[in-house]
Amino acid sequence: MSKTAPILDCCIVGAGPAGLQAAYLLRKKGLSVKLLERGNGVSGFFRKFPRHRNFISINKVHTGLAEEEAQMRYDWNSLLNDEGLKVGTYTKRYFPKADEYVGYLEKFAEALEDEIVLNADVAHVGKKGDVFDITTKDDRVFQAHHVIVSSGVTQPWLPEVEGIELTENYMTFDVTPERFDGKRVLILGKGNAAFESAQKMLEHAASIHVMSPNPIKMAWNTHFVGHVRAVNAQFIDTYQLKSQNAVVDAMPMKIERDGDGYLVTAKMTAAEGHEIVLRYDYVIACTGFRWDPTIIDESIRPELLHFDKFPAMTPQWEAKSTSNLWFAGTIMQSRDFKKTMSGFVHGFRHNIAALTQFIESRIKGTDFPVHQGLVEGPELVDHIVERISLSSAMFLQPGFLGDVIHLTGPRAGTQYRDVPVHWAQETAEVLGTDSLMVTLEFGNFGQTPTHVKRAHTAYEGEPDPFIHPVLRHYRGGELMATTHLSDHLDSDWRRIADKVAGEATVTPLTFADLGQN
Ligand SMILES: Cc1cc2nc3c(=O)[nH]c(=O)nc-3n(C[C@H](O)[C@H](O)[C@H](O)COP(=O)(O)OP(=O)(O)OC[C@H]3O[C@@H](n4cnc5c(N)ncnc54)[C@H](O)[C@@H]3O)c2cc1C
Repeated sequence: MSKTAPILDCCIVGAGPAGLQAAYLLRKKGLSVKLLERGNGVSGFFRKFPRHRNFISINKVHTGLAEEEAQMRYDWNSLLNDEGLKVGTYTKRYFPKADEYVGYLEKFAEALEDEIVLNADVAHVGKKGDVFDITTKDDRVFQAHHVIVSSGVTQPWLPEVEGIELTENYMTFDVTPERFDGKRVLILGKGNAAFESAQKMLEHAASIHVMSPNPIKMAWNTHFVGHVRAVNAQFIDTYQLKSQNAVVDAMPMKIERDGDGYLVTAKMTAAEGHEIVLRYDYVIACTGFRWDPTIIDESIRPELLHFDKFPAMTPQWEAKSTSNLWFAGTIMQSRDFKKTMSGFVHGFRHNIAALTQFIESRIKGTDFPVHQGLVEGPELVDHIVERISLSSAMFLQPGFLGDVIHLTGPRAGTQYRDVPVHWAQETAEVLGTDSLMVTLEFGNFGQTPTHVKRAHTAYEGEPDPFIHPVLRHYRGGELMATTHLSDHLDSDWRRIADKVAGEATVTPLTFADLGQN
């Protein structure tokens, strides 16, 4: 493409699930888009990772639910589309294999044939005036008014430990299990990559230690799906039942070669800093990934957050000091790091729906699209109940994406749907003079997360620990009141009569909390 080619509305860097999602939605809005991918196929990341090829995102095919939007609550892998392209038609596995997902993304990409440019390895993104120049390693230049960086996390993140460079890394280590027959292995890190790797070695290694300074965080406890998932947690049993494996809460201080093995000096964080020296045959760092900022020209490069892993960005996912430079995909987790699901497909696909609206509004000079609805009494209540029962975005991005409904004033009835809560809170026009913000949120699970207490009504005691609706009333931009409603066994607060037959477990359903029966 020469510089005389028309300037694109938007150029997207990286054709993983995020880039594909963004390109699909922008093209649907009639905008000119190119999606540049360094590989010779889409989804470079999932072709290699996870290394052991098992997804931790669910693919629930049989939900018993009629509404497509509600089905998406339990389909964490499909991208948003109007063509009925669902991962469930490619595999019925609850946890798909990574290769099956790549097959789905290849199918999804077929419709974007004119937009995708393969073997386009972006080396530099610069801005002159209002126009971005995007240059590939083989010197092709694309020009665009907007850039979305969806290049994922391509670099290893390593802790500052003396000798860390001697270790093997999750990104590249030879995963052949027989390598570890009868060996002693240290895995650094306590995320899913660490436990997934430990699990694969169970039948081979003599002893496996999983080490980091902080205790394990289980996803079923924290509700952050990036913490350790039960599907990767078999290993923990082997520690608790003293089967030669261990989860060690310790800060590694020094790693040295010792013949054909390693000596590791570590300070035990759970034993008052007690120092130990351990010997292993292999040390594998599963300490995470980071985004590569070097493709962005230094003059517009964003600062880095969260141990320098992700770029800083506004609540609209735009670079703080460079307008029209946007971020999509797993790097969106910079906004909700380890809290909600922007790092995963089921979170960021909904973020990208809002992001592409922001871009369209900016290009066309239009307001953010809103819905007009009912603003009074039972009809308003019915509307809210329907939204909290069906919205996939609110359910999968708890407290992060939500609805805002204007109650009075000239814009009464205006509804912003599935928008970033932080954006709404800082934008006077969105909050309006008198509005209700509706989100779904988890509460505090306390010490025994599997024995969950709940209140009978919305007006007593602590908010329910399980995901439940939260209503916030804003007047003149000020938060006036917050009400937590009760959770629901089916996460569906509609009247039985409003559901398709067979959708409900709980019957009869009462609406004491909402003043209805
Ligand atoms: C071990 C592991 C397991 C995971 N498992 C899951 C899971 O089960 N479910 C889930 O939802 N998420 C999972 N994730 C998170 C996962 O990384 C993201 O969901 C997904 O890969 C992010 O999509 P993305 O499009 O943002 O980035 P990526 O999938 O990384 O896609 C980025 C694309 O950009 C391309 N690219 C990079 N740099 C350039 C450049 N300079 N020029 C051109 N192209 C470039 C890459 O080749 C790639 O195709 C996992 C992460 C890890 C580390």
